[in-house]
Amino acid sequence: MNKHLEELIELSKIDKAIDAFEPKIETAQAKVAAVEEQERTIEEEIRQLEEDIKDAELKKAKNDLHIQELTDKLNANKRKSAEAKTEKEIKALQLEEEIAREQLDFANEEIGRLENLIETRQAEIAAKKEELAAIQERSAQLKEEVAEELAEIEKQKQALFEKKQELISKMSQKILAFYDKIRRWAKNTVVVSVRKQACMGCFMKINDKTYAEVIKGEEITTCPHCGRILFLEKEENAE
Ligand SMILES: [Zn+2]
Repeated sequence: MNKHLEELIELSKIDKAIDAFEPKIETAQAKVAAVEEQERTIEEEIRQLEEDIKDAELKKAKNDLHIQELTDKLNANKRKSAEAKTEKEIKALQLEEEIAREQLDFANEEIGRLENLIETRQAEIAAKKEELAAIQERSAQLKEEVAEELAEIEKQKQALFEKKQELISKMSQKILAFYDKIRRWAKNTVVVSVRKQACMGCFMKINDKTYAEVIKGEEITTCPHCGRILFLEKEENAE
């Protein structure tokens, strides 16, 4: 087989192997991003629960104030009742007292409800904090694993880069430029095999003359349809 063609096949294999690391890197980084997102979600949930507590405390304080006002009113009412002279006055004061007592009951009930709510939210926060701690632990472990994984990928990539560099240094500049030009659009399918007389880049059948050239492998043959560099895989060559 043509020496240049052999080099091109090798170069395309190396480039493909280098690019194959990208999805692995992305997957590893996505794992870290997912766990970080989980952390943020729980932190936000805790913040929301703390907000609820603050809100309930504020409402409780307002009710406390209201209770104080109602108690003052009832005390004043008592004094007025003692001084009341007419039936009409007494009835009016009784009605006022009834309303104030109803409001007092309501305010007390409201405080009870708010206290329950605060207790529930505090328990929820405690549970969320436990959950967060577990996730943070997992996250730290995962980050360590991913860092190791990425370092290993980097090492393998580096080895391939060196291999590529060595290969390129021996190759003709003209051939390299030709390869790079096709690679711009064909990405990792610059050099493709021919199977059943079809280009494995564009999957079109190639004519007999081109096929014969590919079988010979004496020169660099490109697909007449797509322009990719063609070669015959050894298995097919043997047939
Ligand atoms: Zn083609």
